[in-house]
Amino acid sequence: MPARTGQQYINGLKERQCEVWLGGERVRDVTSHKGLSGGVRAIAKLYDMQYDPALHEVMTYTSPASGQPVGRSFDNPKTREALETRSKMMLNWARATCGMMGRSPDFMNVTFAAWGAAADFFGEKRPEFGANMRNYVEYIRENDITLTHALINLQRSRNASGMFNLEEGTALEVKKETDAGIVVRGARILATLGPLSDEIAVHSPRLARHSEDHSPFAVNFAIPCDTKGLRFLCRDSFDLGRSHFDHPLGSRFEEMDCVVFFDDVLVPWERVFLLYDVNRLNATPHVTHSTAHSAHQGAAKNLAKCEFVLGIALLMTQALGNGHLPHAEERIGELMLYAELMRSCMRAAEADAAVDQWGVMCPAILPVESTRNLMMTCYPRMIEILQLLGSSSFLIQPSEADFDGPLSADIEQFLATDTTEARDRVKLFRLAWDVAGNAFGSRQVLYERFFASDPLTRARAMAAIYPKDQAMDRVREFLGKSNDEW
Ligand SMILES: Cc1cc2nc3c(=O)[nH]c(=O)nc-3n(C[C@H](O)[C@H](O)[C@H](O)COP(=O)(O)OP(=O)(O)OC[C@H]3O[C@@H](n4cnc5c(N)ncnc54)[C@H](O)[C@@H]3O)c2cc1C
Repeated sequence: MPARTGQQYINGLKERQCEVWLGGERVRDVTSHKGLSGGVRAIAKLYDMQYDPALHEVMTYTSPASGQPVGRSFDNPKTREALETRSKMMLNWARATCGMMGRSPDFMNVTFAAWGAAADFFGEKRPEFGANMRNYVEYIRENDITLTHALINLQRSRNASGMFNLEEGTALEVKKETDAGIVVRGARILATLGPLSDEIAVHSPRLARHSEDHSPFAVNFAIPCDTKGLRFLCRDSFDLGRSHFDHPLGSRFEEMDCVVFFDDVLVPWERVFLLYDVNRLNATPHVTHSTAHSAHQGAAKNLAKCEFVLGIALLMTQALGNGHLPHAEERIGELMLYAELMRSCMRAAEADAAVDQWGVMCPAILPVESTRNLMMTCYPRMIEILQLLGSSSFLIQPSEADFDGPLSADIEQFLATDTTEARDRVKLFRLAWDVAGNAFGSRQVLYERFFASDPLTRARAMAAIYPKDQAMDRVREFLGKSNDEW
């Protein structure tokens, strides 16, 4: 099948009877559920972009297997130009969702594309796992499958001596093997896009704290979301069923987050990519370079999001007429800095890209990891800046219905500013509130703080790849200078 249209994606979701729970009820049809259908429509629109005549060339490429156009994020670029085209594709999707759907399907597509290229790594000790990976990547590419993922084990206790505890009975583990496959039990977080996906990928970046090299917690597999025993428990929906005017982002981009329960779920052998092998699991992101590719996708999202927040801030100061005040100028300058740092890191990652041992043009890791880590602290600051710039205007918030109600004349007269009609002001600030105030916006801040793991893990990930010697050598060289030298 060539790249899917939005309608084909929706039809696929309707056909699956996944076990999704929201607000105490089982969701029978995610495509029509009031808390989920907005997000489904958004993902469908992303798929439709693959057939927009103006974008088709960028959004798709020719399948190496079928010769049909397939989604560009499944591509393993061989040249810098192909990498840049894939980057444009990801930026198109990120800008279409204002950077608010971090888990758009390209996130997992680039990860699996990298794993497909590095299939020999998975098959090194167990050749069947390499073949499984190759086949699976071809399957998701040729069927344009939408994937969610759950990497993190729930923890029952947190103490500093046992970072990332793997507790029996809570963390996901392999309970037994059968002729048909492995049986897994436990719970994972946090499957964003879970109810909106066809399949779930389960692996883990976090067994590093455990010294044994054979562990029932070490596993990498992918299964359909309607597999028996698999249950998705949603948080409250932040799509409040309001109009696009009242709730511009929440009514469009609710990507949903879920806890996933695995109740003796059978994973067929052909869907197992790694089993018990702690060292291989820990090495996967770096040896396959999937971490660089997924961070590159994240960098596109970060850029789109920084641009969007900057645009809102500029329009806010224009509407309020405070853009010329020094403190507003300083804050806007800070937002510009973040947007340009994201853009620069993407450019640097592409300019310094190199072909890796798998034959893939791989973005340079340090710049894309930098955007990942920077976003954890700069995004909360960006939201603080919006709040400081907007102040009470965030709460001068009549709804769309109020503009047609008995107070409409007052609203039109008193809520206008020197530069902006009342309706335009309110529309803009309702958007800003979605970013900086309400549950949808708060979840975005939490997402940026934690989606790529907790700050300590991110700092360690950076330290592991940073060329520390270069920095120390410069200082050593300076310290070693004699009195006669400069
Ligand atoms: C909105 C959102 C969407 C997400 N989407 C996804 C997704 O799609 N897929 C996915 O797999 N994950 C997703 N994540 C999960 C994300 O990967 C985790 O939230 C993140 O790894 C942090 O884990 P945690 O929430 O359990 O926090 P914790 O691990 O509890 O971290 C909180 C703090 O406690 C510290 N800490 C943790 N464990 C210990 C310990 N044992 N001892 C001492 N200190 C400890 C940490 O260093 C940190 O400072 C998402 C998260 C959010 C917020």
